Formats: sequence, structure tokens, C-alpha cells
Amino acid sequence: MKALVVAEHVRGELRPITLELISAARSLGGPVEVVVIAAEPSSFTDAVNVEGVDEILAVKVDHDEFENDVYQQAVEQLIAERSPDVVLLGFTVNSMGYGPALATKLGTGFASDVFAVRDENGELVAERSFYGAKVNGEVEFPGHDRAVLLVRATAWPPAEGAGSASVTEVSVEPTASRARHQDWVEVQAGDVDITTADFLLSVGRGIGDKENLEQFEELAEAMGATLSCSRPLVDAGWMPSARQVGQSGKTVNSKVYLVLGISGAVQHLAGMKTCGTIIAVNTDPEAAIFNVAHYGAVADLFEVAEELEKLY
Ligand SMILES: Cc1cc2nc3c(=O)[nH]c(=O)nc-3n(C[C@H](O)[C@H](O)[C@H](O)COP(=O)(O)OP(=O)(O)OC[C@H]3O[C@@H](n4cnc5c(N)ncnc54)[C@H](O)[C@@H]3O)c2cc1C
Repeated sequence: MKALVVAEHVRGELRPITLELISAARSLGGPVEVVVIAAEPSSFTDAVNVEGVDEILAVKVDHDEFENDVYQQAVEQLIAERSPDVVLLGFTVNSMGYGPALATKLGTGFASDVFAVRDENGELVAERSFYGAKVNGEVEFPGHDRAVLLVRATAWPPAEGAGSASVTEVSVEPTASRARHQDWVEVQAGDVDITTADFLLSVGRGIGDKENLEQFEELAEAMGATLSCSRPLVDAGWMPSARQVGQSGKTVNSKVYLVLGISGAVQHLAGMKTCGTIIAVNTDPEAAIFNVAHYGAVADLFEVAEELEKLY
């Protein structure tokens, strides 16, 4: 099954999802083409030239920053020219911006948040979660000879090993982009980088009230942990966005992830499930967080916090 992977990059750096997409593409057993859309595509070709990539398609565009219309048009043209069976994009904010529109326009199959794929006798089968990650299901694409898939981060290991792909320069018709990147907004100065922490204490809506945060800030400090959180706490303005773990927050890889009062929605899991040791505390024995936790306690997080406070 021939796969076309769309590389993602930001501020001159290839995003890790790109190498994960290449692993997903390789698992389908057919040729793998990787398209790099950038102001200077050559600055990324070495990074994507890993084992299993057959060809790199370099598309030079005016601006390095991601633009929906430019990506959609470039990928649409490449699909017409290259006829891939499957187009693999990251399940990321960028690709969510144009992947569904691309599939709709071309009338291809489509699935988002995909964490497994296989070629079953020439038919593509993708797996994704439903109902807040309580059920996993298989998606088939009857009647479609092609599918666009948005692939969940960290579902595949990053592809590695030196590659020997050829590089082909492809020119696309210039597009009048309806949106233009203006600026990068830096995270608040002085805040920590949770992506480099070894020990994260992560709190969620289970803590109940903003007033309770202080207790967990103190506990984190006493334990030598860095405090992180789920998205509702950021949406409520209780915590800065730099502390948010998950799909629209940060992907963390701490040695220990102690998680209090977080249900384990798929968007949260996307950011933390590769952590070394995950310890979950939740009053709901059915909480999805227990599916990824190495250790779990069905308990009241305040009681657990109280016991931990005695130890530190
Ligand atoms: C496009 C998109 C992107 C998203 N990105 C993110 C993201 O990056 N990060 C993220 O976290 N979410 C993200 N979300 C939101 C996500 O879907 C969930 O809504 C969110 O993760 C839920 O947060 P939570 O687990 O803290 O809250 P809830 O789902 O409300 O869970 C609270 C948990 O606390 C438990 N609890 C309650 N009281 C106690 C107690 N006293 N002791 C112990 N346990 C208790 C409950 O049993 C429950 O499991 C995103 C959603 C969308 C649609």
C-alpha cells in the first residue's frame, strides 16, 4: 500500500510526529513518499531521509510557517500526481486545519486520531477510539480507493536508521492563502518547561476548586515534582497553558507521572502515555487513566495527598 506522509515542522525544527508517521507508513509495507513543504525544503530533507523512505518530495513555498491553504493545495496536487493509497498526516492542530477539507474535496476515506493501521488483503483498516477512549474500533473505507488519516502522536515509535531516499523537487501552483502567520507568542517568562521534568505531579478537574491548587503546588514542591495539569484547569484560567499536558498542550516524557483526578481522555493520554511510570489516583474505577497507569489507586485524591504530605 503506497503511503504519502506530510512532514510537519515548526520554527526550523522537524516535529517528532513526522518520524512517527514514517513508521506508520512503513508498517503498511508499500512505497513511502514524504513531502516537505517549506521555504527551504532542503533544510529538512536529511532529517526525513530515514530507513524505509523511498522518495522525498520537496515543495518550495514562500513562507516557512504552516498555512492551511498552501498545504491543502500542495497535498492535493501531489495526490493527483502520485496516487497514494493512503495519506498520513499528524493528528495535530496544523493537519486538523486542512486534512478533513482535503478528504472532503477529493471524496476520499477519512479517519482522525488513528493509532493503528493495517493492510488487510489490499484493504486499509485503521483503528481509533470512540466514546472518550472507552471503546476502540476499526474503520474500513468501503468504496474508497484512498484515505486521508490523521495519526495520533506517540502511537508509533519514531522511524530511525540512515535512509537512501531520492529527493525530487516539485513545484506547486502558488496559492492565495486566506490566513497568514503573524507572530509566535512565547510562553510566560519564568514558567517551567514541563517537557524536561523527570517527575510530574499532574492534577485535573478532580481537585474541584481553584483554592485547592495551592495544596498541590506545595505538595509538588515538597516532593521535588513539577506541577502539570489537564486542559480544563487551563481553560478555567487556574493554571498557565505552559503547564497543560496533552494533545493541545505539551507532550511529556517524565520518568514518573503521578496523576490526581484526571479521567484520562484521549487528548490527555496523547501527551503523557509514554512516561516511564504512571501512577493514577481516581475515585472512578472505570476511569480511562487506569488503562495506561502502571500503578493505580481507586481513592480520594485529597486523602492520598494528605498521606503524601506526611511523608515529605
Ligand atoms: C481538540 C481537543 C483537544 C484537547 N486537548 C487536551 C489536552 O491537551 N489536554 C487535556 O488534558 N485535555 C484536552 N482536551 C480535553 C479532554 O477531552 C478532557 O475534557 C480533559 O482531559 C478532561 O480533564 P480532566 O480529566 O481533568 O477532567 P474530567 O474528565 O472531568 O475528570 C476528572 C476526574 O477526576 C476524578 N475525580 C473527581 N473527584 C475526585 C477525587 N476527589 N479524588 C480522585 N479523583 C476524583 C473523576 O472521577 C474524573 O475521572 C481536549 C479536547 C479536545 C476536543
